[in-house]
Amino acid sequence: MAVQVKTILILGGTGDARALAERLDARGDLEVITSLAGRTRTPALPPGEIRVGGFGGVDGLVDYIELSGIDLVVDATHPFAAGMSRNAFQACAQSETPLLRLERPPWREGEDDQWRMVPDVQKAASALPRGGRALVTVGRQELAPFAARSDVAVIARMIEAPDTRLPENVLVILDRPPFTYADERALMIEQKITVLVCKNSGGVATQAKLTAARDLKIPVLMVARPELPEVQSVTTAEELEALLVRGFNV
Ligand code: NAP
Repeated sequence: MAVQVKTILILGGTGDARALAERLDARGDLEVITSLAGRTRTPALPPGEIRVGGFGGVDGLVDYIELSGIDLVVDATHPFAAGMSRNAFQACAQSETPLLRLERPPWREGEDDQWRMVPDVQKAASALPRGGRALVTVGRQELAPFAARSDVAVIARMIEAPDTRLPENVLVILDRPPFTYADERALMIEQKITVLVCKNSGGVATQAKLTAARDLKIPVLMVARPELPEVQSVTTAEELEALLVRGFNV
């Protein structure tokens, strides 16, 4: 079935989602609604309509899609926002609404990198060598298992401060991507980092830490992406727009 699209729901919370909303809104022939979970207190807002907060599970999303006359859902959430992606898959199947995913490719280990892949943040926290100094970049929501490692100095970089008090082994650094190679390298040297922990988010905005770690011979605990349902996917906002213009089938 060829899809005719007028009203698009973008499941957002990423730079890619924002770039897509900007691109599609600028066309002037589409109604673009971006949905944010509401986790960030001061999010960088895209143009177009914004809605904030959970839908109330699969049924809530089905209701929203039907009441708002959504013709296409684009899952542009972060590759680790697996709950939202699974809900979107089910809700679109139930409401027979086309679903596309905008997902940047994962990073790949290069010859001089020293990566150890781990399946989740808990495993990453337990794999930290005792007495080390870890730069942890997994976000404030998933800091708990690292904070619990009182035998490791945790330098946790995130966009917004956590709501809870953290133990003395955790130093919080607040900063927002993009990060440059020079800044990442300087941070790792200044903080005497011995291990880097990150999620395999992909993309250029946060990639410099991997190059800096490689050059400083710092090992990386790389959290692998969660498994997601199979969905027709593109890797850039440009590709997605081209697909809309060209027309696509579901
Ligand atoms: P998640 O665990 O996959 O989702 C949990 C619940 O949060 C969903 O079931 C949904 O609630 C709500 N939700 C998530 N994304 C939403 C959206 N875009 N619009 C409306 N509701 C949303 O999500 P998460 O990992 O906490 O991520 C939350 C947001 O942060 C996402 O927008 C994601 O793109 C962004 N983000 C996540 C990460 C990460 O590492 N996980 C990194 C950067 C940005 P209901 O069931 O009530 O609908």
